[in-house]
Amino acid sequence: PEELTLFYQPLFELRSGRLLGAEALMRWTDPEWGSVSPADFIPIAEERGLIVSLGEWALAAACGQVRQWETDGRPMPGRVAVNVSARQLEDDGFVDTAIRIARENGAAPARIELELTESGMMRDPDRAVEITQALAAAGFSLSIDDFGTGYSSLAYLKKFPIATLKIDRSFVIGVPGDENDCAIAQAIVTMGKQLHHEIVAEGVENRAQMDFLRMLGCDQLQGYLFSPPVTADELARMISEGRRLSLD
Ligand code: C2E
Ligand code: MG
Ligand code: MG
Repeated sequence: PEELTLFYQPLFELRSGRLLGAEALMRWTDPEWGSVSPADFIPIAEERGLIVSLGEWALAAACGQVRQWETDGRPMPGRVAVNVSARQLEDDGFVDTAIRIARENGAAPARIELELTESGMMRDPDRAVEITQALAAAGFSLSIDDFGTGYSSLAYLKKFPIATLKIDRSFVIGVPGDENDCAIAQAIVTMGKQLHHEIVAEGVENRAQMDFLRMLGCDQLQGYLFSPPVTADELARMISEGRRLSLD
């Protein structure tokens, strides 16, 4: 449907300040209700069994966009991250479907990062190990979204071929002011690095948060401080303008 679009929120690499990748986020514009947040419509789509087709649409659209930026001579540095709902993971055909969608839309799986949630993986962790291994073998990069909010078994964490952990915004909100959030963020970074994961912090809104997360050794940052989710064209413009973080 026309009302559904993808916006893209850039991620920035702390070490270099470079724009490196973006997360694809669904936007729904309803003729009657106006702009509806995915936080509101995704849970409804899950309930009604629509999330699988929505998720497939999002993956196809993101792959098509990656291809389009390449054709336009403005390739996106890094990967485009696509959110995958727990329900999609439960589908037996998910791995084949993801491979097919990437192929049909002309994007190499290596250009795509699939964002899985902790709770989605922990519903059936043994199965999640198999699925994530198959996705990684197909060339997709994998991340765990909203890390720290689900109930994650650390014993499993090392079995998943995960490249990236995304520290949930609920912890980022509290740094550097809240001692507990600081401790949690630090623990996630330390553990993630030991397990050789890249660490992304999401929802960074101010300089104090950025400085603290940088001090902890986060690899990449995402948040309104740098850019809200924007259209594909706006993102392409940021890339061609060489938009960077200012680190001083
Ligand atoms: P998420 O995957 O954790 O995405 C990050 C959310 O934080 C996005 O909300 C983004 O706009 C918002 N955000 C980014 N930076 C900041 C910041 O500095 N401050 C604040 N307050 N918020 C920030 P959004 O776009 O409303 O999406 C909400 C959630 O809906 C996403 O959370 C994700 O779980 C889900 N979602 C969005 N698109 C898709 C999709 O294509 N498929 C699936 N399954 N879920 C999706
Ligand atoms: Mg996400
Ligand atoms: Mg998140």
